[in-house]
Amino acid sequence: MGSVETLEFQAETRQLLRLVIHSIYSNKDIFLRELISNASDALDKLRLESLIDSGLAGIDTADLCILLEVDDEARTLTVRDNGIGMTRDDLVELIGTIAKSGTAGLLEKIKESKDAATAESLIGQFGVGFYSAFMVADRVTVRTRRVGTEDGTQWESDGEGTYELQAVDGLPVGTSVTLHLKPADSEDGLADYLSPAKIRQIVKQYSDFIRWPIRMASERTDSAGAGSEGTDAQSADPQDAAAGGVDTLNSMKALWARPRSEVTQEEYDEFYQQISHDWLAPAATVHMRAEGTFEYEALLFIPSQAPFDLFSRESRRSGVQLYVKRVFIMDDCEALMPDYLRFVKGVVDAHDLSLNVSRELLQHDRQIHGVRRRLVKKVLGALKDMQSKDAERYAKVWDQFGRALKEGLLEDTDNTEALLELVSVASTHDPEKTTTLRQYVERMKDGQDTVYYLTGETRAMVENSPHMEAFTAKGYEVLILTDPVDEVWVDRVPAFDGRPLQSIAKGQVDLDGSDAADEEADAEKARREEEFAALLSWLTTTLSGQVKEVRLSSRLTTSAACIVGDAHDVTPTLEKMYRAMGQ
Ligand code: ADP
Ligand code: MG
Repeated sequence: MGSVETLEFQAETRQLLRLVIHSIYSNKDIFLRELISNASDALDKLRLESLIDSGLAGIDTADLCILLEVDDEARTLTVRDNGIGMTRDDLVELIGTIAKSGTAGLLEKIKESKDAATAESLIGQFGVGFYSAFMVADRVTVRTRRVGTEDGTQWESDGEGTYELQAVDGLPVGTSVTLHLKPADSEDGLADYLSPAKIRQIVKQYSDFIRWPIRMASERTDSAGAGSEGTDAQSADPQDAAAGGVDTLNSMKALWARPRSEVTQEEYDEFYQQISHDWLAPAATVHMRAEGTFEYEALLFIPSQAPFDLFSRESRRSGVQLYVKRVFIMDDCEALMPDYLRFVKGVVDAHDLSLNVSRELLQHDRQIHGVRRRLVKKVLGALKDMQSKDAERYAKVWDQFGRALKEGLLEDTDNTEALLELVSVASTHDPEKTTTLRQYVERMKDGQDTVYYLTGETRAMVENSPHMEAFTAKGYEVLILTDPVDEVWVDRVPAFDGRPLQSIAKGQVDLDGSDAADEEADAEKARREEEFAALLSWLTTTLSGQVKEVRLSSRLTTSAACIVGDAHDVTPTLEKMYRAMGQ
């Protein structure tokens, strides 16, 4: 070993370290995610370099991996990789300083922040990376050798202002980061990071799709709990047994990063089931890659069956996970999917985000908004596709998720047309089958320019409604809407494909076309109104408080009278729904 050289951290690094050590983060587990992510990057870099630089041709890239080592006696956890490694200067530059722009301003803001939560959110946006090791360790030792160089270097620090550098002979290419762990302290969010079970859990949760194997020595079967741990360990590595008791902890299945042509539906289905805990195959799969200024991959699924709590207020969570370059960032990333598509499950892997991007930041990120718009269009497109290519499957999906999609007609005005195309409703046209609005329009009678509907509690009630008589008599098709949410969206959506939607129970419905100029009809109407004036006024007085007005109508053929709502009245069904909701 060479002589020890003591260097000072750059002032800003020192401040950042102080913040990290004094537990800015409540979620300490993420240190492992950060170190594994760095190791994974280093493996990526080595492989890339070996492809470009023929001088490295002798370097063996066949078994690139990340190794986790626990030493109970020394109380250390080591994250080791056989990646690109660092030189002494790299260490000074990359670990000793913060190159990020705006660091000073950010640190100032953090110091000024009134409470821990604000500070945490600020630092989260910045990303502490390697320094997060100091959340769980009171001393960190890095030993590293850059590929293509002879000498290795050891870097060591307690995070308090200085670090020591020392040349070391005989190091393998790659990097090991050894954490001298602080004692476990549940109050401080410090778990027992020597526990293999804990390590497995963190890897599974945060790094399962890292595409290099993350390995750890198998636990001895004589230690408590180790037996069952060992058998259900997700060992994707066929060499595990041969390697003498080493388990691969991650599944490495970053399916979304593979070209579509190379992934089988079976693999998609398996992946879906792993992330959704569903036992059924998905009804549709959307796999896309966006290139350009903001690169990302998305792998989304429309399930076959709605979860039981799709409409419960408490469980309104999005089903999309966010990854940044294969590193798991968060579940339920609501910024990527609107509420009405909360049933969509999957993964979005964005390449250009910070690992510590926060929910708040995502909600306001212009590029994320763009991603979301694109994903929504893709999902609606997949549904439309299914509707035209596999009507039977679509009918089942609509049955499960139609109500949620109808919420979209209230929330997502950008996609009103696309959503209206998806709507399937009952109609007087066919008692057995639902219809789309498009099909309705295709069947419209000559001269009909309005889409007629009637809402009600059941099909029978709607069919037997007196409002229906004139329409049945004249052969007009009427949509039968029996879902309470129908009342709401038909009210918000003025037209489909330029044809107004109109309730046959509201306002004036003129079935004979516009006859206003027809003098003869006007005269006849005036005559009848005079004839019935006394009756109408008597009825109005007698029923006062119950109805607004009694008038003659041309809408009935066999019933003597019916009750009509004002064009903007709350309908009886909606009234009932509001009451049920306690409003
Ligand atoms: P980031 O990963 O966002 O760059 P980090 O603080 O996590 O920030 O790491 C700082 C830098 O240190 C990395 O960019 C990389 O160059 C270097 N580094 C960290 N860990 C390793 C490693 N295991 N192998 C090689 N280089 C590493
Ligand atoms: Mg990093």
